[in-house]
Amino acid sequence: MTGAGLLLEGGTVFDGLGNPGRVADVAVAGGRVVAVGGDPPAGLRRVGCDGLAVAPGFVDTHAHSDLVHLLDQPQPFKLLQGVTTEVVGNCGLTFAPLDPESAEVAATLWSGLAGGVPVEPATFGGLAGRLERARPANNLALLVGHGTLRLTANGLEEGLRPGAAERMAALAAEAFEAGAVGLSSGLIYVPGSYADTGELVALARVAAAYGGVYATHLRDEGAHLEAALDEAVTIAGTAGTRLQVSHCKAAGRAAHGMGGRLLERLAAARLDGVDAQGDQYPYDAGATVLSALLPPAVAAGGTEAMAARLRDPAARAALRAQAERGGIGDGAWAEAGPADVLLTGHRHPGVAGRTLAEVAGGRDPWDVLCELVAGDPAATIVVRLAREDDVRAIMASPLVGVGSDNGPPTGLEHPRTWGCFPRLLGRYVRELGVLSWEQAVRKATWLGARQFRLDGRGLLVEGAVADLCVFDPATVGHDGTYLDPDVPVSGIEHVVLAGDLVVEHGRFTGRRSGRVLRSGR
Ligand SMILES: [Zn+2]
Repeated sequence: MTGAGLLLEGGTVFDGLGNPGRVADVAVAGGRVVAVGGDPPAGLRRVGCDGLAVAPGFVDTHAHSDLVHLLDQPQPFKLLQGVTTEVVGNCGLTFAPLDPESAEVAATLWSGLAGGVPVEPATFGGLAGRLERARPANNLALLVGHGTLRLTANGLEEGLRPGAAERMAALAAEAFEAGAVGLSSGLIYVPGSYADTGELVALARVAAAYGGVYATHLRDEGAHLEAALDEAVTIAGTAGTRLQVSHCKAAGRAAHGMGGRLLERLAAARLDGVDAQGDQYPYDAGATVLSALLPPAVAAGGTEAMAARLRDPAARAALRAQAERGGIGDGAWAEAGPADVLLTGHRHPGVAGRTLAEVAGGRDPWDVLCELVAGDPAATIVVRLAREDDVRAIMASPLVGVGSDNGPPTGLEHPRTWGCFPRLLGRYVRELGVLSWEQAVRKATWLGARQFRLDGRGLLVEGAVADLCVFDPATVGHDGTYLDPDVPVSGIEHVVLAGDLVVEHGRFTGRRSGRVLRSGR
């Protein structure tokens, strides 16, 4: 209800730009911030904010909520964290554009992201329209995924068929015409992993022509992190796009301690004229598909071919030799031990909730891994990859913002799905002091809004869109754990979406006020 307008009284206002907070009343009318301090217009509904922080609504730059907002029930799991805009379509995995054939493959490979929503053929504009009509709980900005473009243009084959590159570029242009804010890639996932640098440059050029960003899950986040980052900088620099490095981390034992070098390279890219920054989730564990532990080549030819390969002892041994090498394109097996891998979703009951080491018992964990992937190619895991000192070093950088990398809000998902932003504020600001409040708010708001060109959002100044989050610095936090992830957050008091009070005293009001934010409109 934007009609009456709101007066948020007496809170400490953070502008999102990194300035220290100051006590001021914030007046909202017509969906916009109309005054910060000074004399507010009369007749506004008063909301007491004494002792609370008033910030721009959080921007989740790395979300995977692509389809969940199509469910009948509203999905306020991000809104309850103070997030007013999610950037979806990350890691190259989007649910459009899909034709009947690629939709079937996507439904098998990426069902873990779909959250129970049927995966159907759709143009990019068609899916954007459906999301808009469904009224998501929060705003959505959509990336178009390279993996999906390649799947639709070329199937799961490694080499590009004649005409496939042109087809991908045409489909990308269609997506940008329909309002995509950028191009994403996921270079550890088939078929995105098959692309060489030139293929990605060509598509990033399409993004550049529309002012879109290139957001990438690097080809390697472990021992070869630096080479993978160099490739990303080359792609963005050659194509002339901004660069967003997704879920920045130094993953796996061989990469521990490399967080600083990641930051040096981001800074060096900026000196070379590439507008490079990143995002991060504040946890030492990530979540992905179980098959990410295997060399991506295992999936060549589709899920049936993969299952056959995983059941063939000779093929299994060859894959193991490759995985143990741990090079670029060899999968994540070498990065984590079986005890670090918690299974969170599998078709067979009794698997989820146990580590790979526990499921294996006395058996060889590699063999058990192959059987589990053959039994459910979409099986999901939470995997401990990063070291806490790297997490904090990366967090301290002003070039790295916040992205939850969430899954659907059901079942045993990584706790970041429900608690990423409150955890950042409670644990890393209040308890550990890694960031000041104003630094954390800047990272959670304006930094991402700027890189994804969410005009008018991510900052709290007169004239900005009134997407706001009011939180209690004394209590904000999230106690979710890997085995008990979906506990409620604390300290997120009120959330305002374009002037509409959608979370009041920590409770979702039931109103679906979100929109699809299209670039150029
Ligand atoms: Zn990713």
